[in-house]
Amino acid sequence: MTTELLPNFFAGRWQTGTGAGIPLFDPVLGTELVRVSIAGVDLAEGFAFAREQGGQALRAMTYAQRAAMLGKIVEVLQAHRDEYYAISTANSGTTTRDSGVDIDGGIYTLGYFAKQGAALGEAKCLLDGQRIRMAKDPAYQTQHIQVPTEGVALFINAFNFPSWGLWEKAAPALLAGVPVIVKPATATAWLTQRMVKDVVDAGVVPAGALSVICGSSAGLMDQLQPFDVVSFTGSAETGRIIRSHPAVSERSVRCNIEADSINSALLAPHATEGSEAFNLLVTEVVREMTQKSGQKCTAIRRIFVPRAVYDAAAAAIAAKLCKTSVGNPRNESVRMGALVSSEQKAAVLAGLAQLKTEADVLFDGNTAALVDAADTSACVAPVLLGHRQPEQAQVLHSVEVFGPVATLMPYDSTEQALAMIRRGEGSLVCSVYSEDPAFTAQVSLQLAAWHGRVHAISPDVAALHSGHGNVMPMSLHGGPGRAGGGEELGGLRALNFYHRRAAIQGSSQALDLLAAQGVTLPL
Ligand code: NAP
Repeated sequence: MTTELLPNFFAGRWQTGTGAGIPLFDPVLGTELVRVSIAGVDLAEGFAFAREQGGQALRAMTYAQRAAMLGKIVEVLQAHRDEYYAISTANSGTTTRDSGVDIDGGIYTLGYFAKQGAALGEAKCLLDGQRIRMAKDPAYQTQHIQVPTEGVALFINAFNFPSWGLWEKAAPALLAGVPVIVKPATATAWLTQRMVKDVVDAGVVPAGALSVICGSSAGLMDQLQPFDVVSFTGSAETGRIIRSHPAVSERSVRCNIEADSINSALLAPHATEGSEAFNLLVTEVVREMTQKSGQKCTAIRRIFVPRAVYDAAAAAIAAKLCKTSVGNPRNESVRMGALVSSEQKAAVLAGLAQLKTEADVLFDGNTAALVDAADTSACVAPVLLGHRQPEQAQVLHSVEVFGPVATLMPYDSTEQALAMIRRGEGSLVCSVYSEDPAFTAQVSLQLAAWHGRVHAISPDVAALHSGHGNVMPMSLHGGPGRAGGGEELGGLRALNFYHRRAAIQGSSQALDLLAAQGVTLPL
């Protein structure tokens, strides 16, 4: 039986692609759920519609009005949460708790920008810094301002966060006054499509402000024009294709890349077995390996501990991992669901085999039976690897396995640990577990050069912290080098990507009138 072909919302109307479409599956049961297609859809028409109709309507609003619009989107999404959870369970194979990270994480991020944006008031532009004199006479000065870019924001998203991945980008784009076209990853496109459908049907955004196209990515980048922006999240390989596309290399389309990352966790050198820092690291490693089956770009992949506690850390992590029941997320006893597809299962098993050419297996949950799931499902249990001489390893510092897999590594000095962390060549996040604020401050300074975020955990924040892998809207998300070099979120800093900066040189009188229409970002 052929399943429903999901329509795309493009050029201000619902359009169903032609042909049979691409099927989306339940990764646990293997059943087909829906299909997607953009075949026959006029891409040029949809991009022009968003750019012209959507862009004009959004720019006619003030920041406060657009913030209020985000608040209305939150209300629409809240009203349909149960349906989103059902889609997530079926299409992503995740437990209710893991679906919440994506669904409620996305709604929370929208709510954050609705609140922060309201404080920008009736302004039409952002004032960037102070006026600077350009002559002895103060009558002639320069003021930098930022105005919304007059193009579309194209989002090409990854499969692991169909909700959060949309809203963490759309919230700042819409608040900035820039229309959004989202192309979700095909494997999990259903949730993104449904959320956009609910928002569009509720009539809370102007025509052309929010569009969704599901299916092939062919030809999308060709549509981009000089004032458009593209924000990509996915593999380093596809990131390279985006970055080298003529839209970016020749037409200067602004491009943000969030790619893969070999994130680290570092236990401080004096931490002993059973100390608070030790226990905090163990808890966080287990959470990062199992939440969303390790399919988080921010998940801990390498764990650095002092050599004296290597065996104790291996035993403590394994003792917790063996309590993780894996299988069908519809069964209440299951703590960890599936990977999103059989293709991802094959990729994770291939990556694991590569890591095993260098590492020892310290724990393998795959020896236990799956709960309510067949061996043919996309379920993979957690695997903890280890290497006693990690400086000699190559693959362990360079291959990202996008699943419930991490490698424990001992170190002999802080310098040696930092040198190994640096071999990730730029990561999204590194967490530090220490009871010594001086150590935390010192290593944070060094880690900041190679990471977008340092998550520094000590006993006084044990009950407060937001988690190594959780991306919070007030903190920067992105990382240098291999992580893609992108920057997202970071509070209202996120608006920068969707604005163009210009220096206005002129008389103070004109600058006074200009300033009356602007607001300085409260960063
Ligand atoms: P992917 O294969 O690179 O796909 C990402 C997106 O790019 C999908 O929407 C995909 O569409 C699209 N795409 C594929 N080929 C394209 C092309 N030639 N031109 C334009 N678009 C193209 O990545 P993935 O497998 O979905 O995601 C997993 C990876 O993403 C992991 O490596 C992970 O580390 C990374 N990730 C990074 C972050 C971050 O914030 N840094 C967050 C999440 C994930 P189709 O699905 O239709 O092929």
